[in-house]
Amino acid sequence: MSDYRIETKCIQSGWKPSKGEARILPIYQSTTFKYDTSEQMGDLFDLKESGYFYTRLQNPTNDFVAAKICDMEGGAAAMLTSSGQAANFYSVFNLAEAGDHIIISSALYGGTFNLLTTTIAKMGIETTVVDPEISLDDLRKEFKENTKCVLAESISNPSLVVLDFEKFATAAHEAGVPLIVDNTFPTPVNCRPFEYGVDIVTHSTTKYMDGHAVSVGGCIVDSGNFDWTKYPDKFPGLCYPDESYHGTVYTKQFGKAAYIVKATATLMRDLGSIQSPQNAFYVNLGLETLHLRMQRHCENALKVAKWLQNNENVAWVNYPGLEGDPYYERAKKYMPNGTCGVLTFGIKGGREASIKFMDSLKLIAIVTHVADTRSCVLHPASHTHRQMTDEQLLEAGVKPDLIRFSVGIENADDIIADLEQAFSSLK
Ligand SMILES: *Cc1c(COP(=O)(O)O)cnc(C)c1O
Repeated sequence: MSDYRIETKCIQSGWKPSKGEARILPIYQSTTFKYDTSEQMGDLFDLKESGYFYTRLQNPTNDFVAAKICDMEGGAAAMLTSSGQAANFYSVFNLAEAGDHIIISSALYGGTFNLLTTTIAKMGIETTVVDPEISLDDLRKEFKENTKCVLAESISNPSLVVLDFEKFATAAHEAGVPLIVDNTFPTPVNCRPFEYGVDIVTHSTTKYMDGHAVSVGGCIVDSGNFDWTKYPDKFPGLCYPDESYHGTVYTKQFGKAAYIVKATATLMRDLGSIQSPQNAFYVNLGLETLHLRMQRHCENALKVAKWLQNNENVAWVNYPGLEGDPYYERAKKYMPNGTCGVLTFGIKGGREASIKFMDSLKLIAIVTHVADTRSCVLHPASHTHRQMTDEQLLEAGVKPDLIRFSVGIENADDIIADLEQAFSSLK
């Protein structure tokens, strides 16, 4: 980890060219890499030497971008994945297998909730879903002998719950398991979960990191702080010989990088959710301006939230950066420089008025996306979360009338003018 501040890391971390090399991170558009002897190649397969041989396992472009994100988060090792979904799946499946148990917060992105309740159950992993505001004592009671990890979001999409990091980290560590946090919404520019006891961070790089809505991708970063060797029987995949790699013991051979090396060597090898180097290149371009964009996203979102709060058509507004929001104080503590550009609100007149309002917007588009430069809205109950029952929706903190508004980095007055004309269509 370098000592530079986050703005400098956004630009300078990762690719560091030496004499005569490309100033800008090259796209290694190659499936394979050349060696001179079969012994050299054999050593790579045995994990005796580090090096590239096949892009499904590792690619230099991806690794330089992962190294930048790792540095931004203050981690020890990182890897890119094909999507945020793949990142969250690998982060859990690298620790838990059939017969194991995990604990997740109910305030999660719909795709993650589905993955970690329905799909993972088909692999024989049992999940307990907890309210993120559960008391520490009640949380402690949810752990079992076979619990392998806890997963939550730093700011949940779309319910905008700011996580009580210390409570979740305390309970997880007392039970001898790591806390995994999806840090997609605040990004490491606004929040660095490792500083609050989180062990592993995941990202959908598709969102603010790319920031321009051009490439789907994900990332896993390990802090290197969780000591797997204290619980070898709980984490045999990390602490005991891996027969599929000639008896490699990841914790012994790779130390603080054990978790990421195992995920690369086994999950990426077998499941193959690699990010394309071309997409990693776009993510890297996005990262270079992430600090500037996050600042503007947050400024605009706060202006819009304040304006909505005073609008007669609006029933309620949630934005953790807005004074009076239930998560305002916690956001100030964990993300003092800002939260994210996403806010939610409900319109008086219910579902019908909401749909009419959204259809009347001109600048602000209806799209299944958040966290890019362009302002957009979505109605989760009829779009992203439509696979969930009303009960599950409410459990995930998503009201049926909730409109998710990803505030872009256009001029805030133009955004507000568009809202104003759409509201006037309701009269
Ligand atoms: C979008 C999102 C995901 C899923 O990421 P994809 O890149 O779409 O697979 C996971 N977590 C959060 C918080 C998200 O917003």
